[in-house]
Amino acid sequence: MDIRNLFIEKTLDSSRLTKARYYMIKILENHHLTFKELQKELLKFGFNNVTTLYNNIDFLLENKIITELFIDGQTYYDLALDNPNHEADSHIHVIHYTDTDNYYIEEVSEHKIFELIRERPRFQNLDIESIKITITTKKKNKDETKKY
Ligand SMILES: [Zn+2]
Repeated sequence: MDIRNLFIEKTLDSSRLTKARYYMIKILENHHLTFKELQKELLKFGFNNVTTLYNNIDFLLENKIITELFIDGQTYYDLALDNPNHEADSHIHVIHYTDTDNYYIEEVSEHKIFELIRERPRFQNLDIESIKITITTKKKNKDETKKY
């Protein structure tokens, strides 16, 4: 992904693509990270200013370069654009619980579902800002399935 082009597409001045913002986008390219995880990753590149991190998150959210996901009481940051499986406004995430406390996030491309929602008559006079779909799953209990 060309991060510089991303800024041009968004009609943002390339001078606003600071080094810290560049690395934030780079880090989030294939990951969903919490604030703490993002902070930890940025530290590896020498970025340790928390205020700057907050400001950069605000900036990237406002310009729809990143987006927020709310899962299990946690906020995750995710790249909104140029991710292989979603655009800013067509997010579908499947949360797979492996047990009560642990889960992993999978991105699924389901463009038809988003089209269906957009085409609903009730949205015809509205500009849809975003559609976020999160599906929470767990493995079926084998003993339970045997009973039926
Ligand atoms: Zn995602």
